[in-house]
Order: sequence, then structure tokens, then C-alpha cells
Amino acid sequence: MPVVSIQRSSKRVCPGECIVATESTVSELRTPTAIGSLARSDSHGNPINNRILNAIPDGEFERLRPHLELITYTYHQSLHESAEEIEHATFPDSGMISLVIVTADGRSVEVGIVGKEGWVGAPLSVGMSRSPYRAMVQIPGGGMRVKSDILLEALDSCPQMRLMLNRYSQIQGMQVAQLAACNRLHEIEKRLARWMLMCQDRVESNLLPMTHEFFAQMLGAGRPSVTLAAGVLQRAGIIRYSRGKVTILDRKGLEGAACECYRVIQQFDGNQATDTREVENMPDNLHVMEATAESLRPSASGK
Ligand SMILES: [Zn+2]
Repeated sequence: MPVVSIQRSSKRVCPGECIVATESTVSELRTPTAIGSLARSDSHGNPINNRILNAIPDGEFERLRPHLELITYTYHQSLHESAEEIEHATFPDSGMISLVIVTADGRSVEVGIVGKEGWVGAPLSVGMSRSPYRAMVQIPGGGMRVKSDILLEALDSCPQMRLMLNRYSQIQGMQVAQLAACNRLHEIEKRLARWMLMCQDRVESNLLPMTHEFFAQMLGAGRPSVTLAAGVLQRAGIIRYSRGKVTILDRKGLEGAACECYRVIQQFDGNQATDTREVENMPDNLHVMEATAESLRPSASGK
């Protein structure tokens, strides 16, 4: 029996196609909620809403700030492909990125989700330049990006940023493991509810722009079974689905309908990566993480 039942990916968009954003495109993509919580800006005055960029110490942020590039990304755009060089580290302000495993025959399934709580390019923090995942935009949005080599150089003098990036990478690994179990063991209705909750947490909206085909690809299920599962949630008054959009009507109901994986993943969410109080109180761990990162640099690892 296969680990997951998966569908063919419908479209591949090549990496390196991020659009350098204009003020109007950014304002269209950012929600009022996001703007209200902004704390920092790039060197052009563009506000930053990424949790990691807003959490690192001032001095370390200033090291990165001149190199931050404002971008927007579109539906199904690839930020990096599996096994190819990661050219940029991306720090989302809005939207949502899926980490997808692509098999040799072109099929794919989602193993991770990244929003403004995290960053795309996790292998970079330990000196690796490639990822086994494709990072693909599922909900359009925008954020900041920085060239990989500049990030690596900055990390030499930014130990707390390095620690936060490493911790987020570890949290992402936990998410990948949990989703592997979820894809194999849990019913489609519960997985669909879990997935909607994870999306809503990242986009901070009751409205999710998604189609049944989209759900089927991400959940590794056939479209008919996704349609049935969505119908169950809709008849229960938990969601309303129409014209490629899902409206979450009853958040509590959705939580009750989801499998345990949502709660498990929530315990290890991006908040832990950016808890500066914990960072300050963990000098021993910082030392270990720095030593680990150093030992994994390209010259030492033979990458
Ligand atoms: Zn599950």
C-alpha cells in the first residue's frame, strides 16, 4: 500500500520569476490586519510583516536591511525547485508557500506550509544550498527576499538570527514528520479541516482562495473524495464553498472536525522560533547551534 495517494501536479512555474513589487501591488496583497502589526521597514521604507525579521535584534536586522528586496509572488510560482540551488532566502509578509515533494514521474504532495511566521530556504541556515522540496506559492502574497550568499555572510556576525532560523528549520522538520503521518493515517475529511486551519492561521482571513483541484493536490487525494469531504463540512455549516473560494464560518467547528495533527503542529509553531526571551536564556543551546552550523559549512561538509 502506498504511503499516500497522490495526484499529478497540474503546472510547473519556474523559479526566479518573483516580481519586484510596486507600492500598489503590495497594498493590494496586504490585509489591514497585517499592516496594523508592522514593526520594521526595509531601506526604502516598505513595511515588514514577517515574524522572524521583526524578532531578530536591531543590530542584526540592520546588517540584513540594506539587502532586503521587496517582492510579490503569484499563484503556483516556484520560489525554488527541489535539488536546485536556492538563490534567495524568502521571508513572507503575506500569502502562503507550500513545500512539495515531487517524484520522478511528476506527481507531488505537500509536506509543509510556510507563511509570515517563517521563511523559505531553511537549508541555507546550516550551510546547505539545496532542498529536497519544491517551494511553491499556494496563496499569492509578498514579502522580502535576500540573496543566499548575503544571508550566509550575515549569519557569521548574527548569532541570534542564526539561532532563530535554525529553530524554525527544526520546527519545520517536525511539521514535515507530522504531515507524513497525517497523509498516511488520517481520513480525508479530518485532513481537509486540519489543512484549512493551518492556512487560516497564516493568512489571517476567513476567506481562502482555493479550488477542489488545489485541495486534492495538496492533500494527496482524488478530487471526488475532496468534493465529498468539503460537502460534509459545508452541510455542517462549518464552511461555505463557492467559485474557488472557501469561507470559514465556524472556526471552533473546524477545529473539532480536524485530526489531532493540527494541535500537535500548533504546539511547535513559528512562535517558538522567534521567542526572544527563550533565545536570551539559552546561551548553551546557542553555543551548540553555532558549532553545528559551523561544522556544516560547505568546506566542511563537502556539499
Ligand atoms: Zn492528521
